[in-house]
Amino acid sequence: MESGCEILIVGAGITGLAAARELSRRGYKGITIIEKEESTGAHASGRNSGVLHAGIYYASGSNKAAYCVKGGRLMKEFCREKGLTLVENGKVIVPGSPDKDYLLDELKLRADSAGARSEIIDRRELLKLEPHAAPVERALHSPDTAVIDPKEILVALRNELESSGVTIKFGTAFSGLKGSQTAATSSGDITFSKFINAAGAYADRVASAFGVGGQYKTLPFKGTYKKLIKERAWLVKANIYPVPDLGNPFLGVHFTKSVHGDVYIGPTAIPAFGREEYGVLDDLSAESFSILLRDGILLLVNPDFRRAALTEIKKYSTDVLLKEARGLLPELSKSDIEDTPKCGIRPQLVDWRTKKLVNDFVLVRDGDSLHVLNAISPAFTCSLAFAGHVADTLLA
Ligand SMILES: Cc1cc2nc3c(=O)[nH]c(=O)nc-3n(C[C@H](O)[C@H](O)[C@H](O)COP(=O)(O)OP(=O)(O)OC[C@H]3O[C@@H](n4cnc5c(N)ncnc54)[C@H](O)[C@@H]3O)c2cc1C
Repeated sequence: MESGCEILIVGAGITGLAAARELSRRGYKGITIIEKEESTGAHASGRNSGVLHAGIYYASGSNKAAYCVKGGRLMKEFCREKGLTLVENGKVIVPGSPDKDYLLDELKLRADSAGARSEIIDRRELLKLEPHAAPVERALHSPDTAVIDPKEILVALRNELESSGVTIKFGTAFSGLKGSQTAATSSGDITFSKFINAAGAYADRVASAFGVGGQYKTLPFKGTYKKLIKERAWLVKANIYPVPDLGNPFLGVHFTKSVHGDVYIGPTAIPAFGREEYGVLDDLSAESFSILLRDGILLLVNPDFRRAALTEIKKYSTDVLLKEARGLLPELSKSDIEDTPKCGIRPQLVDWRTKKLVNDFVLVRDGDSLHVLNAISPAFTCSLAFAGHVADTLLA
């Protein structure tokens, strides 16, 4: 069975839904989204920390720096307009060890240049905000960080799109290209005039059907979380983050107070064997071997990757995680922590020519198709602003 549309979008995560919303608001009709799962949010968009980042960390000139502040503001407006849960609780960034203190100044510079509000605070001010945080000399306060419920946002976007005439076909997987303007899917062929690839962990695969993005390979990293037991959740008032290693794309183990009051510790960023391996080794496939091989090659040739991967892998051990977490919250003890099933996968793009992790979103346009590659954190926060750039690039 063949059907047709004007703009075909693959993936109903936040990137695909936000792109559809932007195009629909600009008056475009005939938008169809296909999603291989039966609902939205089965992958990264529904499995993240639920933090609206404030734009502190990102290098000037990056897409992350360009869209985080505006994206966070637009997402907050969306939550208010739809009556969705939004907790504007802010966060503090605390050097887990004295040798990281100087990086606070670099973070402050990055925040200033991105137009993000932040303030270097002293110990007294830090302890007023987070009485149980490590009593360090200086920390960075981000008043605009907030937490949301990502699944609630996805459902609200889906409802808005469907009532404005966008078609969303769930249980429909893109499987290849037939000619230049026809997509083969598990529910039949779909012809299109324009195409957006927002397939998250599989965006590189979809791109390869168009002959695009051949220099990239995907490495999945698993983000697992622990939780403070309910009786000790008061140890954290809002969000406490470490000063991250600015050379890698992960923010380090942190404390996040969710909209429901649970305090999560994590996520880790442990090399995973599959793009959707949420349990232990439950997504083993022919690709697992290639992923392992890619990890092995990077371990050999890229010292930054080696350092990051070896640091992260140790966090499988609760004791190591605890030690790191104690750098931020010294009163923490093993009995304060419990396991959670919460887990997400970060599909991290590697530029295989340089063997370096790509630390920004990548947009590749090829004629009538546009490919959103490497929509890594904070792509959820950036989504409503970044969608403007996606639409401009597609329509240029
Ligand atoms: C552990 C973790 C914590 C994070 N924390 C934060 C945070 O606090 N704040 C923040 O801003 N960001 C955070 N992020 C990042 C953020 O969640 C992602 O960047 C964002 O959700 C990516 O959205 P996406 O729509 O591009 O991908 P996805 O949400 O993965 O959506 C892609 C969709 O495409 C579908 N798909 C794939 N292949 C096909 C196909 N062939 N045919 C049809 N459909 C297909 C998938 O099923 C999926 O639903 C976090 C990520 C992780 C993993």
